[in-house]
Amino acid sequence: MRENRKKLAVALTSPAYSNLLRCPMCTGSMQLRDGRSLVCSSKHSYDLSKHGYVHFLSRPVRTKYEKTLFEARKKVMDSGFFAPVLSHISESINGSWQDRTGPIRLLDAGCGEGSHLSVLQQQLSRNSDTAVLAAGLDISKEAIALASKNNGEAFWCVADLAYSPFADHSFDFIVNILSPSNYAEFQRLLADTGNVIKVFPGPDYLKELRSLLYNSTDSSHSTNLKRNVYDNLATIERFSEYFEVLGSRRLHYRFLLHQPLIEPFIAMTPLSWRMKESLVKQIKQRPTLEVTVDLTVIIGGRKTAVY
Ligand SMILES: [Zn+2]
Repeated sequence: MRENRKKLAVALTSPAYSNLLRCPMCTGSMQLRDGRSLVCSSKHSYDLSKHGYVHFLSRPVRTKYEKTLFEARKKVMDSGFFAPVLSHISESINGSWQDRTGPIRLLDAGCGEGSHLSVLQQQLSRNSDTAVLAAGLDISKEAIALASKNNGEAFWCVADLAYSPFADHSFDFIVNILSPSNYAEFQRLLADTGNVIKVFPGPDYLKELRSLLYNSTDSSHSTNLKRNVYDNLATIERFSEYFEVLGSRRLHYRFLLHQPLIEPFIAMTPLSWRMKESLVKQIKQRPTLEVTVDLTVIIGGRKTAVY
């Protein structure tokens, strides 16, 4: 455990890392003190956890997501549940990074237990000659503790996206996968030539669970589908208010979950939390469960100023 803190402290002494950070309370620059905390010029201090992450919240935030949920999510994600989506993202990053030098500075805003960022980091390091400086931010301490335990090669922090501990224009790529956005903050954090990559669910996302939850003859099912289509249009519209849309791809595929993965899948899916216990039990006993993954990946860049 201590090794992780030591490793983080060493990384934080390099300019690549220290230039990335700023105090979330006063925006001052920060320095490492005694290898145990980051301190700004106004003496705001943030501890390096022994697990190897930095805690930036002044008070703990209770989230509805618990450790078991993130452990379940990791199991499902490790099985390749999001593989096509993550491959598409790393190909896009590689494509726009060509001929550029320096480490790719990549932030996962709302990274949860870090599965997606870790996969992207591995893929990018494998496919390109450039180093990857990966940072993951989440408001849940349980999620970040798990992330840093599983991947000691990224910068993990517990922080509020509205008061992120990063300097202006410090990231070349910001990914935001099925997690709330803060577009104003993304604009501040994004480098001039950087991209924001947002992933959001389409109308068919896990539709099998939805039809189990609502009886398919139930009218609330079709109302829900209509609402989802409407939500997607609103998501794209809101995104394009802040960023110039450079590309958008809908990834639609079926994924077969075998028995050992059904329980963690149910545990990680908010939709199932509203199900009756008897129905959940019934699903968990199935030998397999095939679900539809329907996700849209939208890529945006800075809007060019119009005079
Ligand atoms: Zn400060």
